[in-house]
Amino acid sequence: MLHFIANGLVAVGIILQLLALRPVRRLITLLPPGRPRFSWYVLSSLIFIFIIGYGAYIPVFWGSHEQFADLVVPAVFFLGACFVLVVNLLSLETARDVRYMAVLERENITDPVLGIYNRRYLERRLATEVARASRYGMTLSVLLIDIDHFKRINDTYGHPVGDVVLRGLAQLIVNTVRTTDIVARYGGEEIMVITPSTPVKTAAQLAERLRKAVEEAPLAIPADLHRELDKMRITVSVGVACFGRQAVDMKELIQNADKAMYQAKREGRNRVVVGCAPDA
Ligand code: GH3
Ligand code: MG
Ligand code: MG
Repeated sequence: MLHFIANGLVAVGIILQLLALRPVRRLITLLPPGRPRFSWYVLSSLIFIFIIGYGAYIPVFWGSHEQFADLVVPAVFFLGACFVLVVNLLSLETARDVRYMAVLERENITDPVLGIYNRRYLERRLATEVARASRYGMTLSVLLIDIDHFKRINDTYGHPVGDVVLRGLAQLIVNTVRTTDIVARYGGEEIMVITPSTPVKTAAQLAERLRKAVEEAPLAIPADLHRELDKMRITVSVGVACFGRQAVDMKELIQNADKAMYQAKREGRNRVVVGCAPDA
């Protein structure tokens, strides 16, 4: 009887260790390549070694279980296997939760139509950048970009085409700026670019480069949205503002960019207006 219980505990231990490999396999697919994945491969190898050890125990100690004390080792084997299985299942659950939370966080700060950051993130990030610039005396500029006569596009070709144009513009801006710049939807068809550690001269050059890129790049319109139209050209007006004497906080920075952008509209559109002194 004792012999049966001892070998039974070890055999169930082997099954539990085999089951413990399944969550590890799923976990590995969730993790990015590199150290975390490697660690779980190491853990899988250890589980394999345990399984071989458990398997070897049965023939080696066959018939040697004569008293209750002889059940201690098989019981520890069994509990060890339970432990490994529970830890692996919990790890998989935690990894899934973390991934889900990352997806929610990304959705929370992304504009669903344009695929760039939304206003919520823009305000949070701009506040951080203003605080950083203020504390360390760094330069900081912002660009406010507004499509010229966008209502006409919506009225002539319909809202879905307008949405595609907006998305195309957002993508073009993301591809033109530096990876350290932040591109976010400020309002309806207004996009803001935050350029940290950037003096106004450089920001103005970027604004001009963007304006030109938009003017020259035809935005692709899918044929199923509009039959006669597969390329659309638009222009933008850009207002540039910089943190410093003329704008001492986030509100003033946005106001100055807005004023500069409206001045660009008044002066004839498809242009850049810089709303702060060149030395700022
Ligand atoms: P202006 O040159 O003065 O900027 O003229 P405009 O027609 O572009 O005027 P305005 O900037 O005020 O236009 C805003 C328009 O943008 C109104 C609205 O129909 C459109 N719009 C705002 N959000 C969206 C959107 O998500 N999708 C589409 N298709 N249109 C939008
Ligand atoms: Mg507009
Ligand atoms: Mg507008």
